[in-house]
Amino acid sequence: MVERGRFAPSPTGELHLGNARTALLSWLWARSTQGDYAMRVEDLDRPRVRPGMASRQLAELRWLGLDWDGDPVFQSARTPLYEDALRRLGANVYECFCSRAEVAAAASAPHGDEGPRYPGTCRDLTRQERSERHKIRAPALRVRVPAGRIEFHDEIAGPQSFDVQGTTGDFVLRRADGIFAYQLAVTVDDGVMGITQVLRGADLLPSTARQILLHRLLGQNEPRWAHVPLVLSAEGERLSKRDKSLSLSSHKSSGVDPRRIVALLARMSGLDERGEPRELLDGFSLDRVPRDSPRVENLPY
Ligand code: GLU
Repeated sequence: MVERGRFAPSPTGELHLGNARTALLSWLWARSTQGDYAMRVEDLDRPRVRPGMASRQLAELRWLGLDWDGDPVFQSARTPLYEDALRRLGANVYECFCSRAEVAAAASAPHGDEGPRYPGTCRDLTRQERSERHKIRAPALRVRVPAGRIEFHDEIAGPQSFDVQGTTGDFVLRRADGIFAYQLAVTVDDGVMGITQVLRGADLLPSTARQILLHRLLGQNEPRWAHVPLVLSAEGERLSKRDKSLSLSSHKSSGVDPRRIVALLARMSGLDERGEPRELLDGFSLDRVPRDSPRVENLPY
């Protein structure tokens, strides 16, 4: 089987050095396994997408020396695939008429990474209850999450176990405003694009459990997973899309040699300090990536 990796930037803000490191490592993993590498622009959240950002991000990734097979895929052009997936999920999907405030008010203790656990308020509405609520509000669509833990192996973070029903509950697949949720779109696309390996930031580990559930419900092969510890600022904080000084675009426009950036990213990833991505392929292994978060300290330029 041919390996196939991918990078999936969201054009809602600047790529920063942490995103660049994820891109580089996902490229190295794919190419070091003689795999294909795909680029997917995650531009579904229209109100948050910044005009011109996607093409800038792609230009910055090329400037670093990364390449990909075929044209980039834009999620905004793939609505029929997501609609089809909803149809295939059938009775696993139900309409939810709760507002955010109602979910928060109804939630008891646990909070997942997407806010309060959804307590299942609309899980078993009758047809009549649904048609009455339709008159007041458009529904979101949620998936019925079975009780129990989702276990998986992560090639960097090791064994993982998440209680999706206990922490997140039935999660949203399509928002009330019609926008498909990240979890659904990513899972459908990873399946349709034949992705066999997903490398991304460790902040998405809990999402992976939800995506595994969707892969199973959709009858898709699950990719291998590798979640890299997030890059932190010198002060030990998570890099933010708003932090201009560490954005790729500010480095590019101030004339920094991209090879210095690649070498810095390599050093932060336990690899030899080489400036061309392909020079890092020799001897590359995920085992070399440190299990702790690196900090961006003393930029060498
Ligand atoms: N688009 C997501 C992000 O920029 C990444 C999604 C993924 O790699 O699955 O955070």
